[in-house]
Amino acid sequence: MARKPPRILVAECMQEISSFNPLQSEYGNFHIERGHEMLVQKGINTGLGGALAVFDEVGFEPVLTISARAGSAGLLSRPGWTRLMGEVLEAIAAEAGSGIDGVYFSMHGAMAADGELDPEGYLLTETRKLVGPDVPIVITLDLHGILTDRMLRQIDGLAIYHTYPHVDFASTGARAARVLHRLVTDTSVRPTIARVTIPALVRGDELITKSGCYGSLIREARRLELEGMAMSAGIMIGNPFTDVPELCCQVIVATDGDADTAQQQALQLAREFWPLRHRMQGKFSSLERAIAQARSIPGPVIFTDAADATSSGATGDSNLILRGLCDARYPKKVLAQIVDPAAAAAAHRAGVGATLDVTLGGAIDPARFSPMPVTAKVRLLSDGRARLETMKIGLDAGPTAVLTWDNFTVVVFSQTVSLFDRAMYFANGLNPKDFDLIVVKSPHTEHHMFEAWADCNFNVDVPGATSANLPTLGHTICARPTYPLDPQARFDPQVVLYERR
Ligand SMILES: [Zn+2]
Repeated sequence: MARKPPRILVAECMQEISSFNPLQSEYGNFHIERGHEMLVQKGINTGLGGALAVFDEVGFEPVLTISARAGSAGLLSRPGWTRLMGEVLEAIAAEAGSGIDGVYFSMHGAMAADGELDPEGYLLTETRKLVGPDVPIVITLDLHGILTDRMLRQIDGLAIYHTYPHVDFASTGARAARVLHRLVTDTSVRPTIARVTIPALVRGDELITKSGCYGSLIREARRLELEGMAMSAGIMIGNPFTDVPELCCQVIVATDGDADTAQQQALQLAREFWPLRHRMQGKFSSLERAIAQARSIPGPVIFTDAADATSSGATGDSNLILRGLCDARYPKKVLAQIVDPAAAAAAHRAGVGATLDVTLGGAIDPARFSPMPVTAKVRLLSDGRARLETMKIGLDAGPTAVLTWDNFTVVVFSQTVSLFDRAMYFANGLNPKDFDLIVVKSPHTEHHMFEAWADCNFNVDVPGATSANLPTLGHTICARPTYPLDPQARFDPQVVLYERR
C-alpha cells in the first residue's frame, strides 16, 4: 500500500505598512483567497506559487487554508486587524487537526496594526498553538520585513528574498518548500537559527542587489545556501517606514544543528554590513535643482518620488513635484500619477472630453500636502484595473482618469496600488517613452523600464510618508539609538540562537 503523502497546511498573510501614512488601512484592503481559490497563484511569480510547485514535485499534499494580501498602506486599523486575524486563524484552525505534517506560511514581515505591532508574531504564536509543538513551520519573508524574536521562537525554517528590486518571489517560496521538505522527511534535522541585529536603517541605490554593496553581502548569504553550509541565510533590512519596536537590519543564518557555523557566518556578515551603513542611505536632489537641470537635458528624465512610494505604504497623494513643475513653468511634456478619489469621481461624472476644475492630491495627508487646483480636460476614463508587469498580479486602483492641461498629463487613481513598474501607465493608454519628464512614485524600478532609455533619474528630496531621508520621518517606537536617526549609534555584535527541536 502506498504511503499517504505528507500534508502541508498552507496559509498566507501579507502587508507592508508605513507608520507615517496618516490613513489607516482596513480589512477591505485585503484580497482574500480561500481554499482552492489559492491555486490561482500556481505558476505565477509569488512565494505561494513557488512553494506549491515544489510541493507538487515532491509529492506533498497542500492543505490550502487562506491567503490574505494587501497592497502597502498605512497602519492596519484595530477593527481591520481583529477581523483579519480572526478569519486567518479560523481557516487554519479548521484544518489544524486533520493530520498536518508541516506548515508553510507566506508572510511579508512588515505588517503592523493599531494595538498589535507584531501581527506576524501573533499569527505564528497562535498557529503553533493550533498545530502543536512538533509540526515544522516554515515561512517566507520579504527582505523588508521585520523578523521578530516572537516569530523566531515559533518557526523551524524560513526563506528570505535575495533580490531588490524583488524578482525572486517564486524561487523564495521554492526555497522555503525545500527546507520544509527536509524537515518533514528527516526528523533528525535540527534547525539552528542564528540572528544578529544591527542598529541601522538603510535606503538608497546601494540596496539594488545587482549593483549595490548590499548585493555583494546578499550574494554571500546566497552562496551559504547554495553550497549547503546553511539551510537558509539572508540579510533583512526592514521597512524603515514600519515604526515598530524591533525595526532594524538583521542577519539570519540557519543550519542543521551547526551552531558554530550559524553564529560565525551571521556575525561575519553583520560586521561587514555595519561600516556600509553610510553608503546605504538615500542621495537626493532638491526639487528646485532637479527642475533647473531637467530643463537643459535633451532626452527624457525621471523624477523619482520615493517619498510617496505607494508600494512602501505612502498615500500616493503628494502633488509636490507637480506643483513645483507648474510653478517653475517647466515647458516640456510631463507624465505623472496621483491618488485622488474625489478628482477621479469628478472626471467620471464629467465624461471624456469635458473640461473641469478640480484639485489634485493633498487630501489624504494634509499635514504634508495641500490640494492643488487645476483646470483639466478628461482624456480617458478607466476602471483602474491592470496587471503588474513584474509579478503579473492584478491591480485595482478603482475609477481612474487621465487628465491633461498645458504640457501636463496626470493619471488620477481612486486608491493606492503599487507603482514600481509601468503597468498603470500602459493600462491607461500612456507610454512613458512619449514624455520628457516622468514622475515615478517608487524608490526603484527595474532598469529596462525607465533608466535604460532616460538621460537622468533625479531622486527628488520632497517630504512624504516613505521619504528616503529617514531622519525627517519622526520615528517614535523603534529601538534607539539607531543609525541614521542617531548618527552616533554603536554596534556591539551579539548573536542569539534559536533551536526548536
Ligand atoms: Zn520589499
